Order: sequence, then structure tokens, then C-alpha cells
Amino acid sequence: MPFFTKSIFFTECDECDRRFSVTSGGVCERCRRILCARHLHGSLGRRIAIGLGAKMLCVRCRNGEPLDSIASSEVGKR
Ligand SMILES: [Zn+2]
Ligand SMILES: [Zn+2]
Repeated sequence: MPFFTKSIFFTECDECDRRFSVTSGGVCERCRRILCARHLHGSLGRRIAIGLGAKMLCVRCRNGEPLDSIASSEVGKR
């Protein structure tokens, strides 16, 4: 099945719990959360910047939020 190499995998966003295709979102280099395009990039312009080689940082890391506050919001969810 050659087209399996192009199959789309789905995962859940750590921020909003929505399922998204891994090709549209990604993993933040700083907090290591798996995020949908909306929570990883925030805007289309940013997504283009990453395509051009900018660091893959989520919206909250770019806002300078401390890592432990990001992590604790995740713990509270579970
Ligand atoms: Zn999300
Ligand atoms: Zn992050």
C-alpha cells in the first residue's frame, strides 16, 4: 500500500483536546506539548515563518509564560 506513507495521523491537542492532523500542528520545542495549528502557531503568518525556519514555539511559550504554569494547567485537566 504505497499511499500509506502519505496517510494522515490524528492526535489530540494538549491545549484544547481537539483532534487534528499531525501535519497541521506540531510539538512545541520548549514545552514539548503536542498542539493543533491554532495553539501552536496562533496565526497563519507565524506558520509561514516556521516553514521558513523559525523555531517551533507555541503561543504560550512565545508569550513568555513560565513552563510550570503551562504544565500545571495540563495536570489540572487530568
Ligand atoms: Zn488546540
Ligand atoms: Zn510551548
